[in-house]
Amino acid sequence: MLDLKCPDLLRSGAYLNGSWVEASQAFDVYNPATGQKIASVSDLCVEDVRIAINAAHRAQPMWAAKTGKERAILLRRWHDLMVEHADDLAQILTAEMGKPLTEAWGEILYGASFIEWFAEEAKRIYGDVIPGHQADKRIVVIRQPVGVVGSITPWNFPNAMIARKVAPALAVGCTFVARPSELTPLSALAMAELAHRAGIPAGVFNVVPSTAAAEVGREFCENEKIAKITFTGSTRVGKILMQQCAFQIKKVSLELGGNAPFIVFDDADVDAAVEGALIAKFRNAGQTCVCANRIYAQAGIHDEFVRKLSDRVGEFTVGDGFQDVTSIGPLINKAAFRKVEAHVSDAVAKGATVEAGGKPHPLGGQFFEPTVITGMTVDMLASREETFGPVAPVFKFKSDDEAVSLANDSEFGLAAYFYTRDLNRAWRMAERLQAGMVGINTGLISTEVAPFGGIKQSGLGREGSKYGTDDYTELKYLCFGGIS
Ligand code: ADP
Repeated sequence: MLDLKCPDLLRSGAYLNGSWVEASQAFDVYNPATGQKIASVSDLCVEDVRIAINAAHRAQPMWAAKTGKERAILLRRWHDLMVEHADDLAQILTAEMGKPLTEAWGEILYGASFIEWFAEEAKRIYGDVIPGHQADKRIVVIRQPVGVVGSITPWNFPNAMIARKVAPALAVGCTFVARPSELTPLSALAMAELAHRAGIPAGVFNVVPSTAAAEVGREFCENEKIAKITFTGSTRVGKILMQQCAFQIKKVSLELGGNAPFIVFDDADVDAAVEGALIAKFRNAGQTCVCANRIYAQAGIHDEFVRKLSDRVGEFTVGDGFQDVTSIGPLINKAAFRKVEAHVSDAVAKGATVEAGGKPHPLGGQFFEPTVITGMTVDMLASREETFGPVAPVFKFKSDDEAVSLANDSEFGLAAYFYTRDLNRAWRMAERLQAGMVGINTGLISTEVAPFGGIKQSGLGREGSKYGTDDYTELKYLCFGGIS
């Protein structure tokens, strides 16, 4: 099924302390488009994971003692290898996750861009000099790596979610133990193979595939050798991890759920808004945390927007991500499929109208038709919960104030989007929306050069940009006294 130029990238062991290790147990990884088994991967128990943590702990002083430039050279080499092998990495990703091959390829380059960015930042972990408060005092602030980082990531971006975390961690001198999602461990293992080839020293980057999610999570939180947890996933699990970290006041970075509003005002370029909605809603079959989950169209353009959106949604081709024509892949598993079905049927039962799609796709399996529903109201499930599927629910609104109060009526605050041509409205809305990221006249906001992250129950910390190393460093202030 896979046609890899470099078959060694498909790994089934765990990557511990610079070596490939087979565990006594294994779990199977399936292609969500076909249900076929792709690989059987080592299933580590907590004792095995401890080996990785110990290795990362031993390696950390050596790694931190390297100059920024030395770390940068190795990260840069890793980046180059990811780009060189992008075709193979994309195939592995599509096989285990289902997204169309071109999207998978885009994800590999996106993930690699974080490694490139933080390779560059490795040389710029600056401190500060503060004018002293007394004549004999001199004050200097330095930034030091926090130590060993434990990472837990989801299946929707099996490469990029890890790249966004490991790159800043390694850049500043932390070492890293990654537990990828049990649904998509192969992309993480392929990254480890390339890290190995890049010459990243043993113990600096470890990958511990395991189905024991809760046990490994607890170990990360309770093991004193781990200084920090970085997690992307549900708010539910984020809360568990934060609670578990409380005992040691362990640092946490959390990228959690979103419920992004996407607002189209009467003065918007409606065609541009439709294109933006297609990207913000249907990329990765609607399975991204910054996906537009609630679309608000102002009364004056509502009907035109819905018509144009429904027409464009009808042009999507649903299918296996390996087929060239496919623009929407399958949902990751049956539970995801059932949630999408439930959100649509709940909306219809409460009076919504299906404008496009609305049903399981004739292909069967975990394929769902790209869907547009109108007549949405706040009592419907899709208005409160992340649908995480190819369903665009459209609400009608009248005034700016109504749009703001609908948009902000959520415990989440990750991304928000709106379309307008009015500069005043653009500023006012950008300031009033409760979100960590706001797309203004664009549906695509993710880039390594900007800080990605949320407010409210969407999380803590930022990934990417010059701010992205902050979460992996401690500030230390040095007070020199007695200077005469
Ligand atoms: P999603 O719905 O996106 O899969 P989850 O939060 O359930 O979000 O999963 C994100 C990651 O967290 C996955 O790698 C999953 O295996 C892991 N996970 C699930 N439950 C726990 C837990 N109790 N402790 C630590 N990690 C967990």
